[in-house]
Amino acid sequence: MAGTFRFNITFMDSLLSALSPALRDLAERSIQQLRSAVAAYGSVCYANSLGLESMVLTDLIWGAVPEIEMFTVDTGRLFPESYELIDAIQQRYGRAMRVYYPSAEPLEAWVAAHGINGFRDGLGERRACCRIRKLEPFQRAVSGHRAWVTGIRRAQSASRALAAPVEWDEVYGLQKISPLLDWTDQDVRDYIGAHRLPYNRLHDAGFPSIGCAPCTRAIQPGDDERSGRWWWERADSRECGLHPRRKLAPAVLGSAAPVAASAGSGVPAVENTEAWDTP
Ligand code: SF4
Repeated sequence: MAGTFRFNITFMDSLLSALSPALRDLAERSIQQLRSAVAAYGSVCYANSLGLESMVLTDLIWGAVPEIEMFTVDTGRLFPESYELIDAIQQRYGRAMRVYYPSAEPLEAWVAAHGINGFRDGLGERRACCRIRKLEPFQRAVSGHRAWVTGIRRAQSASRALAAPVEWDEVYGLQKISPLLDWTDQDVRDYIGAHRLPYNRLHDAGFPSIGCAPCTRAIQPGDDERSGRWWWERADSRECGLHPRRKLAPAVLGSAAPVAASAGSGVPAVENTEAWDTP
């Protein structure tokens, strides 16, 4: 316990010195939210999506609230760059997040029935693949916890503008904690740059949102940031299931470093998507 305390003090010192006053205030409030969640719910987990927001949350959690259990899901179809990032995170922090995998039996049965890339045959097939490769391991990972942390931000979409810092998640039956709600894209980039955090190098190559390799492609400047995900589908179906779309009131609708490199000022645009949709 004493070691954890010393580590937290060191982290807070570095936080104070590396950030602008406004960003420091944001980070401290996020840390306070995370600590409050642990105090209130005890068993809290963080589903690391490996996106840019995740690099901020990884730093805040392992630096200041290490009681939160961190995990990610390897669907088996990730980009090589995403595996490099997992390794870079491990190297930087000297600890590893737990990696969950799809259950072999249903995956083998599904691939036998639909083919290795059968998710391209229709929306039902795609959702089934996501369910087996992503949602089921996620459900296994969060089971037994009383709350899970996400990296969603209000600026990401009209839907997410409605989010609250703490919400009851009906689908998974636990509290959903969103400590980055008030962060902007620039805040995320600045934090990553100030702390020279690792991030996925694909963000520098036109990939604002990075999921499974066969279901993600680069976009052109000006394109909708979701357009690189499941691009063969209608735009309104491009959710992974972990953050279902909300029904919006009309008024609302109107309204680092790449892996193994330094973030500096070249941190790319933040993905404008789920907090947990990488795998
Ligand atoms: Fe399958 Fe694509 Fe979903 Fe990954 S994103 S689980 S490959 S459908």
